[in-house]
Formats: sequence, structure tokens, C-alpha cells
Amino acid sequence: VILIRASNLERTALCCGSHWACEGIPYQSSPEADEGTLLHKACEVERWDEDVLTGEQISTVNRAIEIREKLMTRLFGQDKVLRQKEVFYKALRIGVSGKTDFLATSEKMALSVDYKFGRGDVEDAESNLQIRTYAVLAVLSGRIKPTVEDIYVAIIQPRVSNEPTLCRYTREDIDRAIKDIVSIREAAEPMGAPRTPSPQACRFCPASGTERCPESQVMIELVSRDIAPVPQKMALLLTAAKLAEPAIKRIRDAARAIISHGGEIPGWILEPNSDRAHVTDVMTGFNLLGEWITPQQYADSCRVTFGELEKQYREHHGCTWDEAKREVRKRLGPVIEMRSVAPSLKQDDRKVETDGKRE
Ligand code: SF4
Repeated sequence: VILIRASNLERTALCCGSHWACEGIPYQSSPEADEGTLLHKACEVERWDEDVLTGEQISTVNRAIEIREKLMTRLFGQDKVLRQKEVFYKALRIGVSGKTDFLATSEKMALSVDYKFGRGDVEDAESNLQIRTYAVLAVLSGRIKPTVEDIYVAIIQPRVSNEPTLCRYTREDIDRAIKDIVSIREAAEPMGAPRTPSPQACRFCPASGTERCPESQVMIELVSRDIAPVPQKMALLLTAAKLAEPAIKRIRDAARAIISHGGEIPGWILEPNSDRAHVTDVMTGFNLLGEWITPQQYADSCRVTFGELEKQYREHHGCTWDEAKREVRKRLGPVIEMRSVAPSLKQDDRKVETDGKRE
């Protein structure tokens, strides 16, 4: 029986051939992944050296712990709770493995927590296969008492929201999830399982663009071909372009890593960028400029950043991002002017064939 990591399950469901295509490819870290590991560790041990984490990282970790503790009080109240951190588990019977960042169990319920430290959208616990698998792993690990009927899984994304996204699973849900996992694993088990490129599947797939996956190479190659961008071909070309983006990024990241570790790439160097000047104290800056500029002229040359104002508001009031956003915009209402922005090109969530016909 093959063993699929919970974090790879979504990709394997979309492309069952990806399991064997990625087998043995060494893990390649990234600055984002390294930071994630650092912050997960800080949440686990709940202490850190001040010079290891930045001020922003410390407040992020503190907020993650605070969100978790509020949730614990909300769910468990005064009940006696057993807390476990970083639970690794391999469910060999169904062929899946994974790590729960935090697990709390009582006689009646269990809570599995997954921290995410990205700044992107809030992840939806309900439709997240990885999260559902953590609930399954917690049950199969035997760490949840047979008396427990409700298994909660929470995603805590402290850089995005003060509210965790929460999903409740019953024992029946877990049984259904196990069946889903087994069918994904069974489809992935044969060595010849088909590889099916798609932007969603290939985005983080280490086989993308390599000889492990000729199908993705064909798609990526399309981008460099001189194909007329006629409407009938656009869906295919856009899919190919989406596939090419992470592969290109991976090549650039690998080149940067080689050169910065002393290696050589003929014809390429790492050219240092000139440092950007940044005014650290806007008020003092105005005084230093002298008489020639009026306060209005100076204000016109400064830019108000919503993100920064919302961050300050949120830190001051301890509210959620949504509340900070709403309140800052409400207060600034009289001086806000909306400017139109060109629409973004976005893939339709409904399934579309590559020749442009809707199914
Ligand atoms: S690159 Fe895409 S098509 Fe190829 S194995 Fe990975 S997910 Fe599947």
C-alpha cells in the first residue's frame, strides 16, 4: 500500500499519476516554507528567543495562540481537556500520513488545529481535503476516546483573520472521508496511473516541468510555441501559461540558490539591487524639508496605505481584519475616491474543457 501525505492528497485527487511522478524528488524549501516551519515551532513550544523572530512574527505567533485558546474555551468550556502538540501519524491501513499541529480531546469532543501563516485568503475548512484528513488521522491514531462524537478541525490564519475557520465532523463524516481517501489512494496506486495537468494540480507539484511528467512539459512547451492566440485556443494556452509560471519560478529560485551558495551558472550572476530609500518618520521628514513646502504639498506627496492603517487599527482595537477594514473605510469615507481597476483574468470555477466548450 502506498502512503500519501495529507498535504498531497488534494493534488493526488486531481492527478492520480502525481504520486509516482513525485516519488523520490528531494524536498526543496523556500523562504516562505522556512518561515512557516519557524512559526509552527514557536506555536508548539510557546517560547522563542527575541532575536530569532521579528516583532511581526512574535505578534503573529501570539495571535495564533490567543485565537486557539479562545476557541478552546468556546468549545470545551470548563471540561477536562488533554492537549497534545505536533501529532504525527501514519495510517498504514488506508495509506495516508500527516501531522496535526495541535490536538485537544475531552470525553465528548476533539479539536484538531492547523496553523497557516500565509497572507492569502482564509482557507475553507469544509472543502479542504487536507484538513478533513487530519480529522481522520486524529481518529485513527487512537488519541480520541470512543465516547467522542464531534470532531472539530480549525484552520487558524493569524495574518488574515482573528476568527478560525471551523468545521465539525461526526463519526459518519469520518467514515465517508476514509472511503474518499481510500478511493484516491487506489486510483494513485498503479505505477501507470494517468497524469492529468491542470493549474490546480500542478501548482505545487515538484514533478511539473521535469522529465518525471512529460504531460506537463508538453503543456509548458506550448507557451513558447508561436501559436496564434485565437479564441478557440485561448483556454488551452491560458492553462499552459498557468502551468509554466510555477515551473519558471522554480528554475529561477534554484538558480538563485546555486549562485548564492557559491556555485556558477555560465552567463548568469546575482546582481545586487540598489537599496530603496524609505522615510521612517513622516512628521520629522516634513520639518527637515524646511519652509519651501506647505503641509498640503507635503501631504500630497505621501501615500496613505489602507493595509497599514487597517493593521494599526486592528492592533489598537484588537478586532478582526474585516472589522478594521470596515471601520477605517467608514471613517475615511468622505475622502475616499474609488478608481476603476482593469478586470483580472480568472479561471471560471465551473469545469471548462480546454477547447473552450463548457461541460
Ligand atoms: S505536474 Fe501536474 S500533471 Fe504532472 S504529475 Fe504533477 S500534478 Fe500531475
